[in-house]
Amino acid sequence: MQMFDLGGKTAVVTGANTGLGQSISIALAGAGASILAVGRSPCSETADVIGKNGGACREFRADLSSTGPIQGIVDEAVKTFGSLDILVNNAGIIRRQDSIDFAEQDWDDVLNVNLKVAFFLAQAAARAMLQKGGGKIINIASMLSFQGGIRVPSYTASKSGLMGVTKTLANEWAAHNINVNAIAPGYMSTNNTAALRNDESRSQEILGRIPAGRWGEPDDLAGAAIFLASAASDYVHGTTIAVDGGWLAR
Ligand code: NAP
Repeated sequence: MQMFDLGGKTAVVTGANTGLGQSISIALAGAGASILAVGRSPCSETADVIGKNGGACREFRADLSSTGPIQGIVDEAVKTFGSLDILVNNAGIIRRQDSIDFAEQDWDDVLNVNLKVAFFLAQAAARAMLQKGGGKIINIASMLSFQGGIRVPSYTASKSGLMGVTKTLANEWAAHNINVNAIAPGYMSTNNTAALRNDESRSQEILGRIPAGRWGEPDDLAGAAIFLASAASDYVHGTTIAVDGGWLAR
């Protein structure tokens, strides 16, 4: 199992206070990484779990609706733990509205957090990784990196864009030992999908086409996250791994 060992590595995870970011943080810490848990809300619950499991986690508060906090995040990781080896661009938002009525603000807000800040955080992290000879960047994409979705035009644009940028960055940075890849979660039980799960007919529609026959749980991402963060994926570049209960195969 040595190839999955993250001992001595530092991971920055955004949106680490809840949902998928919390599970990914706990999983990477379980494999040995020290975690800088970045959230606009407190990440104390995440830090507590990691601490109780014997891991290291430092909280860092940042609102990622603009690029302002980016350099501070990278500097904090390096100052606290000595390096930045793994970045998980997980923080993201969604706005639902018929496209015919979709507001410009809902376009800009989503594109800023999900795509613009994710790109510039990857850039800042890569500059730090280059000094150490390499690193791992994992972008959290979506089924809507592959599909159009309904009533979520800015979210679809952001997640399709994020999968595209994952490939661009891989093309540029693979030769520098930086692996840039993405995970595309299927329909997972988190705040992000609460509206869908509360809508009985939408929920049944979605469930009906998931071959695994259940919504995903945040912990379902642990294996893919550890794989893409570890030496096990050293020759994997620019790909997006769907963890979707078979949704895309349908
Ligand atoms: P979630 O529970 O809503 O978590 C979203 C996270 O992003 C929260 O930690 C949130 O912080 C953070 N965030 C949002 N805006 C931020 C900002 N301006 N600054 C800093 N942090 C911000 O949903 P989730 O499902 O875990 O989502 C995590 C990622 O997975 C997102 O990129 C989402 O698009 C993606 N995803 C989710 C699903 C799914 O089915 N759930 C499927 C595909 C992709 P607060 O708690 O403070 O708001």
